[in-house]
Amino acid sequence: MAQTNSLFRNLPSVSEILGKISTDLPNDLLVLWIREILQQSRRNIQKKNKALSKSVLLEQIYAEVQNRIQFFNWQFATVINGTGVILHTGLGRAPLGQEMLDSQVSVMKNYVSLEIDFSGKRGDRFASLRDLLKSLTGADDALVVNNNAAAVLLVLNSLADGKEVVVSRGEQVEIGGSFRIPDVVRKSGATMIEVGTTNRTHLEDYQKTITKNTAVLLQAHTSNFRVQGFTKSVDLGELASLGKKHRIPVVSDLGSGALVDLQLFGFCDEPLVKDVIKLGVSVATFSGDKLIGGPQCGIIVGKKSLIGKMKKNSLLRAIRPDKSTLLILKKTLLKIAQGKIQNLPLFQLLSRTTDELHNQAESVIRALSPEILEQFSISIDATTGQFGSGSMPTEEVDSVALIIKSSQESARSIFERLVHGTPSVLSRIHNQKILIDLRTVFPSELNSLIEAINNLAR
Ligand SMILES: *Cc1c(COP(=O)(O)O)cnc(C)c1O
Repeated sequence: MAQTNSLFRNLPSVSEILGKISTDLPNDLLVLWIREILQQSRRNIQKKNKALSKSVLLEQIYAEVQNRIQFFNWQFATVINGTGVILHTGLGRAPLGQEMLDSQVSVMKNYVSLEIDFSGKRGDRFASLRDLLKSLTGADDALVVNNNAAAVLLVLNSLADGKEVVVSRGEQVEIGGSFRIPDVVRKSGATMIEVGTTNRTHLEDYQKTITKNTAVLLQAHTSNFRVQGFTKSVDLGELASLGKKHRIPVVSDLGSGALVDLQLFGFCDEPLVKDVIKLGVSVATFSGDKLIGGPQCGIIVGKKSLIGKMKKNSLLRAIRPDKSTLLILKKTLLKIAQGKIQNLPLFQLLSRTTDELHNQAESVIRALSPEILEQFSISIDATTGQFGSGSMPTEEVDSVALIIKSSQESARSIFERLVHGTPSVLSRIHNQKILIDLRTVFPSELNSLIEAINNLAR
């Protein structure tokens, strides 16, 4: 113990470090960070069993506090998305645009008619959304919750608590961020009955497992991977017929779930929600911020009697969205219903041609400073981006990128300076070069991008 104490003797005190820092962040927050950093230093010293000088320790700890301050101030900053990943979970998925923001101002500032009717009585916060969703999907009823993971949980808990949910072994997907179908089924209070094999599941496999305890036949969209080769999965229409025959609801977790035909943009992978409903599926769930281009939320559509059970479930209270989410979703769905998808940022990004992107790349390079063009080699190349968030994993999104490299500086260092810059830019490193994919950069951000690249000059 005496030896350990002497190892720690040179560690500065909290107030010593605090004295060196000037920021307007709350003192208690700084103290919290400093304590955590000191704790970490103690662990490091103990592990290495080596004392460090006071000045070295002070410098290390000070640098770490500055790092925490910088990160704290930076989180929620606007970031120019140069990754080419259109629905980037780390960047908040679908961007919503100016028009949605304007509609937010008054809903956030004032009291709003969220849950009252014309007589002033308590009404239904989902009313207008329900009608829009019914008209867009052909379903009898609809409900909105905080995200699609919550939607799946609510559906299964409402329909299958204490009973059995049948899932194909080929569809026991993990979406990332700890959403795994088997775990969600368990959390819902249901028992999962697995059918088929990883690569092949037949209708008879489902048929054989149906008992009087079967409450749901669950189909999960394998949205973030593809099994290729000797495969067989049961057609959703066939599964729906089987469910109907046995009076067991068929639930489809679509994940992305498109309301707009993405063939318009040259993609063909994603089923339309209305087609899935037409096949006779009882309930379908999907995210509001994937291929809909709206706010983060989960949408449930389906049979009125089943949605009715979900409305009565006390779990709904824990996962219902606030006024702001519901308003943005209403505006987004209205645009889709009116055929005005060109007003939604997601579809603006998707609809640009590679020629347009190429022209934009050229205009960026023309506007760069002579210093930058001298210090870095900057060129244009074709590239491919992705949808991201597990949507359409096999579809590549054709794009054009700015390529930046330097003989003096590593790609990693340029990458970090771009992230730290104002404006902040998230790029991609590929073959020791920086790639800034223009598919995910809005035309209105090009001047900021030029500024960010110019700021790289030494
Ligand atoms: C994305 C996804 C989820 C989770 O949706 P969130 O909106 O992120 O909660 C669930 N299931 C599938 C099939 C998905 O693709």
